[in-house]
Amino acid sequence: MGDAPSQAERAELAAALRTYVEYQRELGVLGFPRAARPVPPPPAPAAPAVGAERPTAVPAATRDLFTAPGLGATRTLEELRAHIGDCQRCKLAPHRTHLVFGVGNPRARLVFVGEGPGRDEDRQGEPFVGRAGQLLTEIITKGMRLERNDVYIANVIKCRPPENRNPEPDEVASCEPFLLRQLELISPEVIVALGKFAVQTLLRTKAPITQLRGRWYDYHGIKLMPTFHPAYLLRNPGDKRLVWEDIQKVMRALGIAGGRP
Ligand code: URA
Repeated sequence: MGDAPSQAERAELAAALRTYVEYQRELGVLGFPRAARPVPPPPAPAAPAVGAERPTAVPAATRDLFTAPGLGATRTLEELRAHIGDCQRCKLAPHRTHLVFGVGNPRARLVFVGEGPGRDEDRQGEPFVGRAGQLLTEIITKGMRLERNDVYIANVIKCRPPENRNPEPDEVASCEPFLLRQLELISPEVIVALGKFAVQTLLRTKAPITQLRGRWYDYHGIKLMPTFHPAYLLRNPGDKRLVWEDIQKVMRALGIAGGRP
């Protein structure tokens, strides 16, 4: 056995450990964000949603994009954003101010997915920054006691439809592969799908949100919880109670029901 370390050696070791821990925290390895996982392989076809109607086949446009050189090869969100570029793939492009890619922790355990950018999001280039976004932020910060930066926030489509109309199938087919790759790169434990459009699109179902919300589904191997959209809650504040029930299920699944770990 060697000599016990001197006080100076112990201090040096402690300083090195402190630096290491700080670095790990910066990387998001400690605290709420979880450790990095290997980058997943390129997307597989949609898996059936547990408890949902059986998904229909992946549309041809989606398959083509998956096999298009580049998308499956992107290894970070930055690379994916660069791959999307100044997107002109669908008819929404001429109407947008900003392409709204997504925001938050690239290693988040929890991802919120909405429908698509509204006017405020189009102007600012960030999802959920308008009135509905403020309510979502309150759910995250006051309800879940997390920071907006702890989670990731994205939409099914990345450009604002004119007059906030519903996105059309060809627009979704062009854009959804990007969301899917985003989710694969982040590899969260839980997705919260906000509102009828996001839920029905992701789960390939026409079932009403009132029937879908509050139950767990599977989206490409990730647990998905549908709930009402915050914009709906602005019009129907009485249903905030139901969303809180859904969010509590999410918190239990993440092991944060008793507060931030
Ligand atoms: N509604 C959405 O679905 N997404 C946003 O980013 C903003 C409002």
